[in-house]
This record gives sequence, C-alpha cells and structure tokens, in this order.
Amino acid sequence: MSKHNINTIIADDSKSIRIVLDTLLNQLGIEDITHCNSGRDALTVINAQPLYYQLVFVDLNMPEMDGMELIRHLGNQGFKGSVVIISGMEERVINLASEVARQHKVHLIGNIIKPINIDELQHTLTKFHYFNEHLSSPQASLSKSELELAINEQRIIPYYQPKVDSQKNQVHSIEVLVRIDNPGQGSNILPSRFINCAEDHDLIDTITVQLLTKSIKDFKELQQELGSSLTLAFNLSPLQLEDLATPKRLDSFFKQHDIRPEEIVIEVTEELALQTPNQLETLNRLRIWGYGIALDDFGTGFTNVTQLKQLPFSEIKIDRSFITNIQHDHFSQIIVKTLVDISKKYNVELVAEGIESYEEYLYLKNLNTPMLLQGYLISKPKQKNELIRWYHNWKKMSEAAAEN
Ligand code: C2E
Ligand code: CA
Ligand code: CA
Repeated sequence: MSKHNINTIIADDSKSIRIVLDTLLNQLGIEDITHCNSGRDALTVINAQPLYYQLVFVDLNMPEMDGMELIRHLGNQGFKGSVVIISGMEERVINLASEVARQHKVHLIGNIIKPINIDELQHTLTKFHYFNEHLSSPQASLSKSELELAINEQRIIPYYQPKVDSQKNQVHSIEVLVRIDNPGQGSNILPSRFINCAEDHDLIDTITVQLLTKSIKDFKELQQELGSSLTLAFNLSPLQLEDLATPKRLDSFFKQHDIRPEEIVIEVTEELALQTPNQLETLNRLRIWGYGIALDDFGTGFTNVTQLKQLPFSEIKIDRSFITNIQHDHFSQIIVKTLVDISKKYNVELVAEGIESYEEYLYLKNLNTPMLLQGYLISKPKQKNELIRWYHNWKKMSEAAAEN
C-alpha cells in the first residue's frame, strides 16, 4: 500500500461537506474517493468490494441509516478498514461510538470536526498509517535457517526501553525488546523481521529463553543502578499464551534465577490475544501467581471496557496512535481520560507509549494523574551500558527541572 493510495469513502448526507472533505483529501494526495449520501448507500458500495475500501469517513447524524448503525453493520460484516467520524462530538458520544466500534470489532481511529481543517485531516491520515503499520512488516523477513543460525550463535540480544513515572520522576520499569545482533552488517535486526518467522517455525520459545537469560543478568545490575523497585517487562506472543505449559516454564525459569513474580511484567498485545480459553487460562494463572500482566497496544485491537474489567490485567499500555499529537486530538484526549478513570477504578497501571514530542509529554504530565511514560522522547531502546549512562543524565536533568 503506497502512502497516498488509500481507497476512501465519504458517507455524509451534506453535499457541501463531502466536497470540502474531498478537496482537502485530494490536497493530501488521496484521489480514490467515493461519495455516499447515507449509511445504507455506503454499506452497499462497501459490500460490492469488501476488501477494497481502507478508510471510511462517517457522519454520525444521517437520515435512514446513521453512522452508529453503519459502524455496527461494518463490524458484523468483518470490515477490515478504518473508520473516522465526522462531527464535533461531546465526550459521551465519542465514548459511546468508540465502545460500539470495539464491540463490533471496527477500527475507529478518530474524529474530525466541522469546519474541517487540513492539519487535522493530515493527522488523521498519520494515525491511519500507524494503525496499518501494526499489520505489515515492510522489510524482508529472515529465513528459518538465518534465524536458527542467529540462535545458535547466541545473537539474540536484549535492548531496553524505560517506562518513567510521570509524577515522581522515577524509572518504574524497563521493557525488554528483542534484537538480533548483526556484526559487520550495520544495525541490529528488528523484531518485525523475525517474530513471525519464529512463530511459524516453533522457535519463539527458544528466542524468549535466550533473551530472558541475558536480560536477567542485566536486570540485577540495572536494579543496583536504577533502584531495587525496578521491574522488568517483556513481550510474549499470543502463541506462547496458547501453550498451557508456558506459565510453569516461565515460573521455573524465574525461580531458578531468584526473581520474584512481582518483579516481572508480561506484555501481551490486544490484537490477537485473549481469544481462546487457553490464553485466558494462561493469563489468569500467571496473574494469580503474582506476575504483572500488561495489555499492550491498547486501541489497535478490540478489547472493550467490559472485557477490560474481566481480564486479569495489572497494566494497560495505550498505543502510540492515541498519543501522537494528543495535545491537539480531542478524540485521543477523551479515550485517554476514560482510561485514566478505568485505571483508577480497577487499580491498574496506565502506560502511554510512543511519546516523541515535548508537547505530548507536557499534556500527559499535566493530567496530574499517575501514569507511566515511554517513548523516544524519554529514551529509545538501548543496550544495558548505554541505558545506565542515559539514566544518570536523565536523573540529573529531572532533578534540576524539579527544583525550578
Ligand atoms: P511493542 O511491544 O509495542 O514495542 C514498542 C515498539 O515501538 C518497539 O519497537 C519500540 O522500539 C518502538 N517505540 C518505542 N517508543 C517509540 C516512539 O516514541 N516512537 C516510535 N515510532 N516507536 C517507538 P520494536 O523494538 O521494533 O518492537 C516491535 C514489536 O515487536 C514490539 O512492539 C513487540 O510487539 C514485538 N516484540 C519485541 N520484542 C519481542 C519479544 O521478545 N517477543 C515477542 N513475542 N515480541 C516482541
Ligand atoms: Ca510491548
Ligand atoms: Ca506497544
């Protein structure tokens, strides 16, 4: 999918809105746009080519079939594209619309308000691309034999990215992100190029074990440098959750290395996880044993508020698509505020992922609510020694800032 070739529908009963939106989208490089003047019309067009359309702008208030009903039908038909609501909306309506979308497994990525402004529209398209990044890996994947070689040569290595406490200026936790060391070949290999392959060829457990074995050693040293209350977070793939032997295996591993469950957070993505009884059993067991469980990439999948209450999460990580430009994005602001309320009520940790700008950071800090912050602005993923150096600088800077 090229950046500009997004097959788009505008469903709005107002012709003038359709024309304005069409013109602005053209200016942003989008040319394939179909106009529909009702929800029913849009549904007919989409049904004729279910996989063709990637982005639908929906007016909530239309005669015959309104936007909410359209979203519901799209969900029932398994629509794979994204939806943007056109209208200035009060908080309750946004919450309701996003809940309906989640219940029906539709990707609602935001809203744009009238009069439509091109910067806002540009931002919406950026979010569209973030969402779709989760579904594709642009670079070529490693082959099975390349991956096996890397494992045999002990080239599976941990990088670490901190989660810092927004109110206390403390590093609360570090997340382990896997890389393959690639000496002589430039930079390390990112997980998007080998996690799928590892899952397909039954190598994912081996990778996790090699990664954790190295991380555990680093972790003891990092606790000495950064504070003994530091926790270690790592990612598990949904396949690993499917395996009922996983909890025991992990638990024995950590016991053997003298690590308590309370020191560990297991991150699972919302998209594929949490569907099968096995996955739920695994998650529950780990949680009962005292491990932290984080719902990763919240917002890219379809966990709704009711499920959030029922699932055993100790942490919710808000996906980067809701954090980018949050200081200007009314929709994301409302979603984040709702999550703040939920996290307080159910006593779960809230993490904002992918903070890249100071404005995003300030917005979140000024919510004056306990939240963990993670992103390139604070620190990119780093190897252990570099992380320790980063920490001492960061600590000096944040102490100086706190005194002012
Ligand atoms: P994730 O768990 O959501 O991790 C966050 C990803 O976003 C990381 O990419 C991180 O480098 C990147 N990131 C962090 N802050 C920012 C930011 O401010 N801006 C932007 N643009 N990106 C940011 P990475 O390391 O390439 O990992 C990608 C995904 O691969 C992870 O997403 C996770 O789902 C998966 N993964 C990583 N390590 C493991 C692992 O050990 N096991 C499994 N099963 N999956 C892993
Ligand atoms: Ca993660
Ligand atoms: Ca994430």
